[in-house]
Amino acid sequence: MQGTASQLKSTYQTFNDLRLRNGYVAISDVQRLVLILQKAGVAGEMTPELEGKFEAAADFLFVRINNFHRVLENDSNVDTTGEVIAELEELLDLADATIASDFSELKDTSTMLGLAAQAAGRVLVAYLDEVRHMQDEQLAQQSAAVDKQLTFLRVTLIVLMLLGVVSLFLLRRDRDARQAQEEAEARVRHLAFNDPLTGLPNRVHFQDRLGAMLDVPDPSVALLLVDLDGFKAINDTYGHAAGDAVLRHVAVILQDAVRPHGGIAARLGGDEFAVLLQMPDESPLKCLCADIIEMIARPLQFEREMLQVNASIGLAMDADIRSGISLDTDNLTRAADFALYASKSAGKGQCTVYDEVLEQQFLRRQAMVNEMPRAINDGNMEFYLQPKVNLATGSTYGFEALVRWRRNGVIVPPEDFISTAEESGVIMDIDRFVLCAASRVIAQFNKEHGTDLSVSVNFSTVHFNSPKLINVVNDALVASGLPPELLTIEITETVEMQDWTQAGDIISEIHQLGARISIDDFGAGFSSLAYLRTTVADEIKIDRSLVEEIETSDTSRFLLDAVLDIARNLELDVVVEGVETQRQVDIVRGLGATSIQGFFYGEPVPANVALARALAEHTPTEHRSAS
Ligand code: C2E
Ligand code: CA
Ligand code: CA
Repeated sequence: MQGTASQLKSTYQTFNDLRLRNGYVAISDVQRLVLILQKAGVAGEMTPELEGKFEAAADFLFVRINNFHRVLENDSNVDTTGEVIAELEELLDLADATIASDFSELKDTSTMLGLAAQAAGRVLVAYLDEVRHMQDEQLAQQSAAVDKQLTFLRVTLIVLMLLGVVSLFLLRRDRDARQAQEEAEARVRHLAFNDPLTGLPNRVHFQDRLGAMLDVPDPSVALLLVDLDGFKAINDTYGHAAGDAVLRHVAVILQDAVRPHGGIAARLGGDEFAVLLQMPDESPLKCLCADIIEMIARPLQFEREMLQVNASIGLAMDADIRSGISLDTDNLTRAADFALYASKSAGKGQCTVYDEVLEQQFLRRQAMVNEMPRAINDGNMEFYLQPKVNLATGSTYGFEALVRWRRNGVIVPPEDFISTAEESGVIMDIDRFVLCAASRVIAQFNKEHGTDLSVSVNFSTVHFNSPKLINVVNDALVASGLPPELLTIEITETVEMQDWTQAGDIISEIHQLGARISIDDFGAGFSSLAYLRTTVADEIKIDRSLVEEIETSDTSRFLLDAVLDIARNLELDVVVEGVETQRQVDIVRGLGATSIQGFFYGEPVPANVALARALAEHTPTEHRSAS
């Protein structure tokens, strides 16, 4: 730009320099002529040398005039150019006339030549002034134009710079927005694949990884499903912040445990975690599981509380998956699930390795869960009766009703389906069925034979979390017409009985109906004593485990004696269960027991068989005494 400006300037300069040179050279041409005239004047004549110089000077003038003519063609701007030409031509005409006269009339013309030279000199000075003045003006104009151009260029530059800054700003804003969007996307991705509380991979992420690990030839994948025991109690007792602390703590334990083996720990939801490892051997895996269980069981300090949970683990390896079913995420997870389920049922805080038998068991349980509700309606649930015998008289005074399931024509014992029925909740229907059916049958029998046989039914502790139980019992009594005092409800203390206050209320209500309450399986765990004191009961049934070794173990005898003593102090009836031999009968009687139930007097049998036997007892010939 600067270059363009100076270029412009120099073009004008060159043109003006030409004008000026023409002007100055013309002056010197005129002066040369005047000088020759002066020399001739001094000499008093024209010497031949001076004549030659005069002619040469006239030639120069001629050339100069020609130059001015050329300049004039392109240069109408300088007003005095025309005057200069006119004066120079007049001077040249005089000079030519002098030469033409062979300088003979020089004396006459020299004055006129001098005057014409003066006039030409004057007009040339004016010309030069004008050219200089014009040059200044043009230069000023040019500089102004150049300045204008420069200003324009500067403004353009500033605008361009501003545009640059603005676009930079926009670009940066765009980049920031893109960065923020990318960060947001990354956060969403993280949330989509990670659990926000523990930061562990979530179920979706875990399944992806498991799928990828299984999707290679000969994978060696071990899957551990880890479930916390007692987590709900932490939440309920200490609040959710405490629960969260436990979950985070467990996450750290799992991560630390799997890191050396390059494994992955994930949180599947709630208090369920999973671990993926590429370890083909079972024994180091079992050690790892034991370590995890042990570490999770250690108490955790939270604020001023010490929190403690246990963990159950189900372990499945790809090699466990039967040939014939596909080795995929679903099947391996289901296998580990079976194993976890087994750990939980086996009393929690342990690890179970999946095996096929386990799966078969599970499938059998599932089938039962599906079939049981229908079994009641289809008349395939029935009850057996086992006699309760008065030790003093040896006669049956009542029965315990024990459920049986006739499944595909085969009798299934309760131990094979009660726990499943409890888990699925169908136990409520089963117990109600036995209660109603047994009450009806016994009431009917008593009515027909003038007897007052009693009946005991078992109630799962699951009922004691439901306030509707009282109506169930009342309805059965009303429908059967059985006097309430002939009905005994047997209950077993279990860990599942969560709310003892509510259970206590329900028990009192049953009591108020006039029915009796019996505490079943007493002595299976001696902890029952405390519970005995706080519960309104009419009877306790001493568990078979106390009777089993009574012939050989002094401890068992001592325990039975102590329990009978407590029962007497609390004025409770006592039924000793599981008596199988005459010797057991003798010892139990010796300890002061009054009622007995066991194979020695009769196994559970179909109701009609049991009642027929009881009827026979009432005919003196067939009476069987408890000797
Ligand atoms: P339980 O209430 O302790 O019932 C007594 C169990 O001991 C019965 O087993 C009975 O056959 C068995 N038994 C009685 N005397 C002897 C003996 O001398 N020796 C031996 N070895 N066993 C004896 P069963 O009928 O198989 O019932 C098992 C358990 O199933 C019952 O134990 C009870 O807890 C539960 N159950 C049975 N029927 C029902 C029911 O209708 N509802 C509920 N919720 N549970 C039931
Ligand atoms: Ca019982
Ligand atoms: Ca029992």
